[in-house]
Amino acid sequence: MQQQQINSWIEQYPMLKNMINLETVFWLNSKRKKMADISGLAVNLADMQRAEQLWQRFAPYLATEFPDTAAANGIVESPLREIPMMKQQLDDHYDGEIEGKLFLKCDNELPIAGSIKARGGVYEVLHHAEKLAIAAGLLATEQSYEQFSSQQFKQFFSHYSIGVGSTGNLGLSIGIISAKLGFQVSVYMSSDAKQWKKDLLREKGATVVEFEGDFSEAIAAGRQRTLAKSDAYFVDDEKSEHLFLGYSVAAFRLKQQLDAAAIQVDADHPLFVYLPCGVGGAPGGIAFGMRQIFGDAVHCFFVEPTHSPAVLVGLMTGEKEKLCVQDFGIDNVTEGDGLAVGRPSSFASGISEKTISGIYTIEDQELFKLLTLLADSEEIFIEPSATAGLLGPLKIRASGYAKTNQVSMTAATHIVWSTGGALVPQEEMNGFYQRGKAYLGG
Ligand SMILES: *Cc1c(COP(=O)(O)O)cnc(C)c1O
Repeated sequence: MQQQQINSWIEQYPMLKNMINLETVFWLNSKRKKMADISGLAVNLADMQRAEQLWQRFAPYLATEFPDTAAANGIVESPLREIPMMKQQLDDHYDGEIEGKLFLKCDNELPIAGSIKARGGVYEVLHHAEKLAIAAGLLATEQSYEQFSSQQFKQFFSHYSIGVGSTGNLGLSIGIISAKLGFQVSVYMSSDAKQWKKDLLREKGATVVEFEGDFSEAIAAGRQRTLAKSDAYFVDDEKSEHLFLGYSVAAFRLKQQLDAAAIQVDADHPLFVYLPCGVGGAPGGIAFGMRQIFGDAVHCFFVEPTHSPAVLVGLMTGEKEKLCVQDFGIDNVTEGDGLAVGRPSSFASGISEKTISGIYTIEDQELFKLLTLLADSEEIFIEPSATAGLLGPLKIRASGYAKTNQVSMTAATHIVWSTGGALVPQEEMNGFYQRGKAYLGG
């Protein structure tokens, strides 16, 4: 973009200047709407319910094929854990005082893919597989889905291919479930994708195609090559409704978990949710679901790296996918896996624009510090990007959000969405931990 054009954007949105300088920012979404005033979204509660039903139909199959889902009878879900020691750590280390309770939503423990991508990615592939099987007359929805384990089904799916562009985690999720069903699956990976993720995917039977460029380029190349084949399906992270719905279902499950823990959510007991954000599909789907279930009592915030504030640029300017961070000279280089995204999802942005409360940015160094603080205080090890939400409660407090919006914080519940980590090799994790230790100065 021309400097003159950049200057005129900055004039309109002064915060862009701080973002270009890679400073951390806290942005409030003035376009957030009350539920009563939200209409015309591309998806609704009935779509979420249908998505949940699809998961239920596939549960017997998943329980058989993925032993880590067996205990929950094939439902892909993660625990919600209170982290009081980390809360103390955050108060001490950042000299803050968090009001309310602090929980970690442990998607780092999600079965199948060990990250939040097990929600959207697995869902979209199951949805596609079901559609193919029904169209071919192999299946009726009232029949047992254990048939998907049969040789006949695998043989059938081997004639179809699936492609996806990914920085790593989405590729793992799509690759693992697609290969298990018998599809030919190709994962187009950006240059920042970790070697161990490529190795693991190949081991699971996926084809890994490596690209020099970033995430958007990997997607563009993957889309083009996949769609050039016949009988091929491309999982498009830049505009997928299915991924979005797969993520949204998390809200139904979270409602059950909060009920089980006797945690109230209403105007006097607000719920705050902090979601690490890449293209905005996962956090957008979850925020959408949360607003459907908890209405105006839930306040959702996204978190992006200072080097990759793609959704923030898109929502702040209202231009969504039409602008990318590189247009402003921001380099999109971050060690937050899954967050190195320069351009937001068009589908998700159109919805998040109305549902979320705000976005803050975080420095890479902070991710490592938080990783180490969490490991030391709670003995929970998650990947760097997954820690981004941990600063949320302190950011909210510092911003005066509660006062402006007349929200009482004393009975608040904070949920930090931990988005990945289970599959990270021990050696890598040790390296992350040591880096955090060094940044903390100890
Ligand atoms: C993909 C991912 C996210 C963000 O999801 P988007 O849909 O890209 O916004 C956050 N954390 C991790 C670990 C991820 O893999």
